[in-house]
Amino acid sequence: MKITRIETIPVRVPLKAELAIRSGRGGGHTNSPFLLVRVHTDAGVAGIGEASCTPRWSGEDQVTGAHLIRTYLEPLLIGEDPKDVAGLTRKFRLAFAGNPFTKAAVEMALWDIAGKAAGKPVYELIGGRVREFVPTKWSVSGVEPERAAAIAGWAVAQGFRAMKVKVGIDPDGDVARVRAVRAAIGPAVKLGVDANGGWSREVAAATIGRLGEFGIYFVEQPLAPEDGVHLSELRKTVQLPIVADESVYTLQDAMMLAQLGAADVFSIYVGKAGGIGPARQIAEFAQIAGLKCTVGSNLELGVGSAAMVHLALATRGIAAEEFPCDIIGPFFYEDDIVQKPLPIVPGAARATATPGLGVELDDEKVERYRVR
Ligand SMILES: [Mg+2]
Repeated sequence: MKITRIETIPVRVPLKAELAIRSGRGGGHTNSPFLLVRVHTDAGVAGIGEASCTPRWSGEDQVTGAHLIRTYLEPLLIGEDPKDVAGLTRKFRLAFAGNPFTKAAVEMALWDIAGKAAGKPVYELIGGRVREFVPTKWSVSGVEPERAAAIAGWAVAQGFRAMKVKVGIDPDGDVARVRAVRAAIGPAVKLGVDANGGWSREVAAATIGRLGEFGIYFVEQPLAPEDGVHLSELRKTVQLPIVADESVYTLQDAMMLAQLGAADVFSIYVGKAGGIGPARQIAEFAQIAGLKCTVGSNLELGVGSAAMVHLALATRGIAAEEFPCDIIGPFFYEDDIVQKPLPIVPGAARATATPGLGVELDDEKVERYRVR
C-alpha cells in the first residue's frame, strides 16, 4: 500500500453561542476553524485527520497547514507505506520546525489507514486498551459568575461529575466565578481551575490561596508558558496539583518541567504533541518520572476527538480516573462533520471496535462547512 495524495479541506463549524469560551489566554473562542486532512492510498483506503487551527496556541491556521502539507509533507509521503506510522512521523517531524497541529492531523490519518488495513481500531495498534472508557470533565468558560453557574449546573444535569473553571482573567472575578460554580454544583463534583497562563506570579499565589475554600483539586497553567522556573517556585508553596498545559508541547518540554519540579500533571494533546505517537511518548516519560497526564482540548470535532479517545484508552500514563480528560469538543458545536461520532457522552468517552479511528467524514456536511 502506498500513499498517493493528501487532500486538505478547511472548515468552520459554528459553536453553540451559549457555550462560547472565554479564557485567560486572551481573546474569545467563538468560531472554530479546522483543517481536515484526507490521506489517499493506491489501495482505495483513505485515512482522515483534523487540525485545530488555533494561531494563539501554535501559530498555525488553515492556510499555513494546507501550505505546509502541500509543500513539504505530501512530497515526502507520496509513495510511502502509510502503515509505517512511527517511521513516517519521525521523518516528517524534521521536514519543518514546529507546527504540531498540522503534523498531528496527518499522523492521525496514517493511524486511521493503518487501523483500516489491519482491521483493528487504533487503540489496539498502539498497545491495546488499558481502560473501558475515558472519564471526562466539563470546562466552564470565563464568563460572569451567574452564567458560569448556570453552565456548570447544566453540565451536572447532563451527567458530568468533574469540571474545571476558566480563571486567569481578573482575580476578583475569578474568585466570584469559582464561588458561584461551587455553589451551583454542590460539594460532590470534582472542581479544578485553568488560568491559561493569565496570572502573574503574585496574583497566582494570592488567588490560589483565596480559591482554597471552594475545594478545588488542581490548578492548571497558573503562569505564562515560558515561566517554568517560577512555576516550580509556585508549586512549592501550593498544596494542590499543578497541571502544565501551554508549557508542554514536546517531550523535551515535559522533561524540562520534570527537571524543574514545576508540575504534577501534564495536559497532553494529540495536536500539541504532533500526533498520537508523540503524545504517548510524553505519557510514557511522565509515568517513568512519577508524574501524571491528562488529555486537554482545543474543542476538537469528531475526528480529532476520536484520536483523543484512542490515545487515552490505550495509554497507561494518562491518569484519566484521577484527572478526567477534556474530551468534550463535540458538545460545543451545532453540528459535526463526521457521519457517526464515537460514543462520547457527558463524563465518559468511548471508542467502538470499528477499524481505524472509527469515524468517517460526512461529505455533505463537509461541503456545508467548507471555507471557500
Ligand atoms: Mg488548559
